[in-house]
Amino acid sequence: KVRVRFAPSPTGPLHLGGVRTALYDYLFAKKQGGDFVLRIEDTDTARYVEGAEEYIMQALEWCGIIPDESPKHGGNYGPYRQSERRDIYDKYTEQILKTDFAYLAFDTPEELDAARAEAEANGDVFSYNYFTRNRMRNSISLSAEEVQKLLDEKTPYVVRFKMPLDRIINLEDIIRGKFSVNTNTLDDKVLVKNDGMPTYHFANIIDDHEMEITHVIRGEEWLPSMPLHVLLYEAMGWQAPEFAHLSLILKPEGKGKLSKRDGAKFGFPVFPMNFYDATTDETYKGYKEEGYLPEAFVNFLALLGWSPSDDKEILSLEEMAKEFDLHKVHKAGARFSKEKAEWFNHQYLQRKSNEEVLEIFKNLEETKNISLSDDTLLKIISLMKERATFVKDIYNDGKFFFEAPTSFDEKAIKKAWNEETSTILKELIIKLESLENFVSEKIKEEIHHFVEEKGLGFGKVMMPLRLTLVGELKGPDVPDLVEILGKAETIGRIKTAIE
Ligand code: GLU
Repeated sequence: KVRVRFAPSPTGPLHLGGVRTALYDYLFAKKQGGDFVLRIEDTDTARYVEGAEEYIMQALEWCGIIPDESPKHGGNYGPYRQSERRDIYDKYTEQILKTDFAYLAFDTPEELDAARAEAEANGDVFSYNYFTRNRMRNSISLSAEEVQKLLDEKTPYVVRFKMPLDRIINLEDIIRGKFSVNTNTLDDKVLVKNDGMPTYHFANIIDDHEMEITHVIRGEEWLPSMPLHVLLYEAMGWQAPEFAHLSLILKPEGKGKLSKRDGAKFGFPVFPMNFYDATTDETYKGYKEEGYLPEAFVNFLALLGWSPSDDKEILSLEEMAKEFDLHKVHKAGARFSKEKAEWFNHQYLQRKSNEEVLEIFKNLEETKNISLSDDTLLKIISLMKERATFVKDIYNDGKFFFEAPTSFDEKAIKKAWNEETSTILKELIIKLESLENFVSEKIKEEIHHFVEEKGLGFGKVMMPLRLTLVGELKGPDVPDLVEILGKAETIGRIKTAIE
C-alpha cells in the first residue's frame, strides 16, 4: 500500500512551499488509494517554536488536507512526534554502530573550530570526511583502548556516518530522473548528537522505514541529502523508498525562492493563516484572514508547479486527487503570481450560491453592525458578486448600500449637476413617493416615463440620481439600487443632496 508522509519541523509556520509539499504528498497518496501521514520532526529542540505544531495542523485542516495518521489522529505507526520515539532511535543507534557505516567522534567544539580555522587559513572549507577523519578524535583514528578510556570517563561523543570512499551512487528521482553522486564529495554527517538524540537524517530514515513510507515527496532543498539517505538505508539493510523532490516556488519576478519577507514586500500573503512571530514581534499575513476561500487557495497552490493533463484550471481537491501525477510536476521552479491567486478566488466566489456568500459576509468583522434583512443582503450580493474577488469586496465596493454618502465626488458633480438638477430631482421625489410597488422594474418604468414626460435626456436624471445615492458615478443599475435602499432611504438621500 502506498504510504506518503509530510514531515515538517515545528520551527515556525508553514509557508506556501511547505503547504504545497503537504498538498502533493496528500494528492499522490489519495490518487493511489494510499495513506497520508503527518509526522512532526521535532528532534532539534534549539529550533523548536512554541505553537508551530498547532499552526501546522490547523493550516492543513483549513486547506482540507486531512491526515489519515498524525499526532492528533493517531494510527498504527505512532507516536507521530519524533521527540516521543527516543527508544526506537536508541535501538537503531546500537544497530548501526555494529556496522562499518558509523563511528564515535569525541571532538570538542573547540577542536572542531580549530580544524575549521586551519582549513580556512589554507583557503579551504573544512569537511569532516574520509580525508580528514584520521586527524580528528574518533573511534577510527584512536585505538580501542583509547576509545574505551574516553567512554569510561564519560566523554561526550556523537555518532557519525562513515561515508565510503570512491563510490558512485546511482540515484533516481521521480521528477528529476537519474543522476549519480561520487561519495568523495560527501561528508561524515552526525547521526546522533551528544545528548543521544538522532539528527534529522537518522531519525528521518528510521521513521520512514518504521512507518512503511513508500514515497518520499519533499522540497528540493532535501535533494542534496538523498545520497546520504540512500546509503543509510543500505547501512541498515532496509529498502529505500522512492523519492521525488519538488522545485521551489519563486518570487513573482521569477528569480530566487519566495521568502516570508516577500509577503510584505509584494503585498500578498505567504502563509495559509496569519502567524505572529514573537521573536521579531511581527505578524505575517495569511490567506485565510485575507479572505481567500480555502478551495480557491488549494486549487491555486496545486497548479503552482503541476498541470493536469487537459490543462483544466478549476478542480476540487477530489478531482485533483484523481488527476494528480508526479510525472506532470514541473522540473523548473514555479513563479508566484498574486493576480493568479486572486483570479482563482474570484472564480470560486462566482461558483458559490448567494446563500453561501451571505454566511461568509455576515461573519466578516466589517459587517458586524449591519442590520439589513437577509433578503436585502441577498439582493446586494447578487448585484455585487460578479465584480468581487473577495466577499469583503461586496462590502467595500458596496458601502453605499449600508450608509448614505458623506461626500460627493467633485468631478462627478461637475459632470452630473447643473442649475436645473435640484428642480428635476424634487419632481422625481414626488413620482417615487407615489409609487406603490417599489420594485426595480416599476422604478425603472417610472423613471422612464418621467424622462419622457419632461423631454429630458436620460443622463440628466440618472447621473444626478446616482450621485445622490452613491456619492460618485459608479455602482449597480440605479433601479436595482433604489429598490434595495427602499423608498424612505432613497428619498432621504436625494433630499440631503439637494438641500
Ligand atoms: N523535517 C524536514 C523539514 O522540515 C523534513 C524533510 C523531509 O521531508 O525529509 O522539511
